[in-house]
Amino acid sequence: MKILPNEPCRCGSGVKYKKCCRIFHGGTEPQKPEDLVKARYCAYASGNAQYIVHTTHPKGAHFQSDMDRWKSEILRFSKVTEFLGLEIQNSESGSNDDEFWVTFHVELQQFDKDASFTERSRFRREEGRWLYYDGELLKDASEEKGEANAESSV
Ligand SMILES: [Zn+2]
Repeated sequence: MKILPNEPCRCGSGVKYKKCCRIFHGGTEPQKPEDLVKARYCAYASGNAQYIVHTTHPKGAHFQSDMDRWKSEILRFSKVTEFLGLEIQNSESGSNDDEFWVTFHVELQQFDKDASFTERSRFRREEGRWLYYDGELLKDASEEKGEANAESSV
């Protein structure tokens, strides 16, 4: 799903793509890891596999050496997923100035099923660039409250 410059940005900022994540996709480095979360979400939503690869830490858990395979996996994920929303919930400094944690929730749907998740992601700064290092999945608050089943009970 390609995104046009004047479309609302898929990160949910309410701003046109050309004034939002396209700036980062075009090569400007996000100064804040939160902006990188938005730009990566938008890249997933618009099938920009190159940006995901470009902003993944080479020593991180998700880096793959087979670029072609990795990119086609990203594209497949983009294709089968509906990106319904991103919410940044928390951000924390890490153990040093070059580490930062961002907790975010994404609303996703795959094959008519809820595929939403909440992740606490770690970012590391490498030569002045923030990169996605790794992350842990958190239990969704909505799951705990049983809201995940709300639809079927209506
Ligand atoms: Zn955006």
